[in-house]
Amino acid sequence: MSVVFNKSVPGRRGVRLPTCDVPFVDAIPEEYLREQPAELCELSELDVVRHFTGLSRLNFGVDTGFYPLGSCTMKYNPRVSERIAGLEGFSQLHPFLPQLRSGGMLTQGALQLLYELERVLCEITGMGAFTLQPLAGAHGELTGMMLIAAYHRDKGNKKHTVLIPDEAHGTNPSSAAITGYRTVSIPTDGTTGRLNLKALEDLVDDETAAIMLTNPNTLGIFNSEIEQVVEIAHRHDAQVYYDGANLNAILGKFRPGDAGIDVMHINVHKTFATPHGGGGPGAGPVGVREHLVPFLPISRIEKRRDNSFVLDYDQPRSIGYVAPFYGNFSILVRAYAYIMLLGGDGLVEVSENAVLNANYVMHALKERFELPYDRSCMHECVFSASRQAEHGVHALDIAKALIDRGYHPPTVYFPLIIKEAMMIEPTETESKETLDAFIAAMLEIADEAERNPDAFAELPKRAPVCRPDEVKAARDMDVSFEAC
Ligand SMILES: *Cc1c(COP(=O)(O)O)cnc(C)c1O
Repeated sequence: MSVVFNKSVPGRRGVRLPTCDVPFVDAIPEEYLREQPAELCELSELDVVRHFTGLSRLNFGVDTGFYPLGSCTMKYNPRVSERIAGLEGFSQLHPFLPQLRSGGMLTQGALQLLYELERVLCEITGMGAFTLQPLAGAHGELTGMMLIAAYHRDKGNKKHTVLIPDEAHGTNPSSAAITGYRTVSIPTDGTTGRLNLKALEDLVDDETAAIMLTNPNTLGIFNSEIEQVVEIAHRHDAQVYYDGANLNAILGKFRPGDAGIDVMHINVHKTFATPHGGGGPGAGPVGVREHLVPFLPISRIEKRRDNSFVLDYDQPRSIGYVAPFYGNFSILVRAYAYIMLLGGDGLVEVSENAVLNANYVMHALKERFELPYDRSCMHECVFSASRQAEHGVHALDIAKALIDRGYHPPTVYFPLIIKEAMMIEPTETESKETLDAFIAAMLEIADEAERNPDAFAELPKRAPVCRPDEVKAARDMDVSFEAC
């Protein structure tokens, strides 16, 4: 594999500028002039097209194959939401256009969409109000923790700690820490895979600002004791934060607001269209119960009596800005389109099929792979490669073997509380045939791990890149190395 600069040939051209037909002016002062010509790539147009088309074919994506990357909900997102987000009326809006009067003709529709998306997210989650500003899941967590801090400050509460289950996504403790809190880990119950209520009772005290939890948690297990958690927290005037990144599992089945959750975020880029991953734009809307509404970030969208919409910046107790303008607007358009196209029944079907697919994979694999928490899962299941590891084949080796068979690997080595973890999330958009083929590949790999464990060290053999030294690859980035 070669970078485009390695293909450069002196003198080769992709474009030719016309001869200059105006007088040449020596306008740039001497000290700013280059001493050497810029080292630009010299290639023909065809060279460039072939280079980048070739690179694009090395990509793996949901459009090319099965992508069971647990916790990331890598589902297929319908093209129609892309089309809608691309409509000129949305994509060509300037954020400084006036909201009302003549310019309002251009912006009222966009404001209405944001307003209605807030309302519909409230309906889906049972929360009292939403802000669409945060730009990602982790950003939503940070916003939520800032709201909690503002609430305690307002009440004069002296609170210093946030309790977080030990299986939590790494962003949870970091969001709490950035907000200024000390984080304390709550152990998971070894048999149920749920947060240990007794341990929570022992850890919570009047210093506790919040409990942050994910439900279903990162083991793919639903915590049916969530109301008790809320009750314990509220007894100490601690707030309960709900990481709703895994909402894909519970649409139309469970509403965090009904369980008394105080603050939550949604990853719309996992649940409501917009592919997750690759570091692309996302959105992490945050929902709150009534008592936290005054602290929400600005601006707030308001519907006026004449049915027009305005952005209100006059919120004296607000935590202020968390994002420029209105958040990642086009991601919010995709989410709105997805929700409206599926409707209530369609969203319920999304979750039912996501859970059905995960349980199907779990049952088909549990004879051959260790299942640390053997109970019905939600949208994902977490195995351990511990049996294969006895032969020297680790979760990473299984991941590499899957790459050679044309699959994106599951998430490996997370959650941290499971040794040799392999977290599989098939999502609702995959067919039975795809799941069966993946299951067959995993079973074949389990056989191979017993029969010929040494062969795994060489894998993958068919990928554009073999097995790089991962530490070196991160520290000493060289993208021009030779392929396998
Ligand atoms: C994906 C995820 C996050 C973080 O979301 P980003 O948009 O990647 O910042 C947080 N919590 C959980 C449980 C997640 O799965």
